[in-house]
Amino acid sequence: MPPARPLLCGFTRDALVGALAELGETRAYRATQLMEWIWKKRASDFEQMTNLPPALRHGLAERYSLCPLAVVDHSQSATGRTRKLLCRIQDDELVEMVLIPAAVGDAGTQSTRLTLCVSSQVGCAFGCKFCASGLHGLKRNLTTGEIIGQIFAAEREAGERVDNLVFMGMGEPLANTENLLPALRLITDPHALALSPRHITVSTSGNVPGLLKLANSGIPVRLAVSLHGATDEVRSRIMPVNRRWPLAELIPALETWQASSKHKITLEYILISGVNNAPQHAQELVSLAQRLRAKVNLIPYNPVQGLDWQRPSEDACRSFCRTLLSHHIPTTLRYEKGLDINAACGQLRLRHTS
Ligand code: SF4
Repeated sequence: MPPARPLLCGFTRDALVGALAELGETRAYRATQLMEWIWKKRASDFEQMTNLPPALRHGLAERYSLCPLAVVDHSQSATGRTRKLLCRIQDDELVEMVLIPAAVGDAGTQSTRLTLCVSSQVGCAFGCKFCASGLHGLKRNLTTGEIIGQIFAAEREAGERVDNLVFMGMGEPLANTENLLPALRLITDPHALALSPRHITVSTSGNVPGLLKLANSGIPVRLAVSLHGATDEVRSRIMPVNRRWPLAELIPALETWQASSKHKITLEYILISGVNNAPQHAQELVSLAQRLRAKVNLIPYNPVQGLDWQRPSEDACRSFCRTLLSHHIPTTLRYEKGLDINAACGQLRLRHTS
């Protein structure tokens, strides 16, 4: 396979200026034109860039790629518009994304918001015991261009712009801060993708060094923590990451992030029968959520073929939820969209690795 050409959608403005200069083009307005083609008009071919001279278009096409990421398969949930997209990246590896339709609002109105759940790595090294993405380990980090390229590929498939982004697909985003942080800067840059940071959520399983880097970056995105247990005993049983960074390290790091952010942290909590759904677990979660002034998102476990965990009964899930609400913890009990196509939390890549 020929070496992959760098993806221009992952270049900063300065890097684009440098790329143009190497081709003998030093006028500043050319960089502005190129940025508009890449990020505002979502050009998929250099020939579309009709206000650039043909020689410059050819020079760029010889050295760089715009977005060779291609959706090669998709499945649609029977219960809604949720779609799982399988995307081929430059070295023929596959990553999965999920397009999630807007929820019906409180007033019964349908928002037009379109959410994309993107991947940050091919596979995952963190090996959470309930998750399909970590079953085969980590292959590699996605580059900045590949992270952004997923948005362009999904938009081409959807026929509309994505306006809400969650980093909850394959991989641990904060284990790939070297590519994630530049991607977030471009995604939120008004001259690039111009997505509001309020509409971006980064999820982590508890990667403390990555969390501190995100806090120091000053990029005001939202944060979701895959907690799934409010004690070291429960977390270590299902999340090996907790042995590396136990709660005594994770909680202060979350407090550091909180001090730098206006947003509440969301604690994601997958309810697994007989593991973390007893009344005492709910009380432990109440204490932690109160300390962090966090919201809680409860997700009944989604079955993964080859893993033995069970989803609790609906009554058990509702009872757990009521305990949190009775302590005034903002809590949602989220039955996942897309369960029938393995597009729910912890299920990505299942179909293609089994
Ligand atoms: S839940 Fe997230 S961090 Fe854990 S194995 Fe799955 S992808 Fe990796």
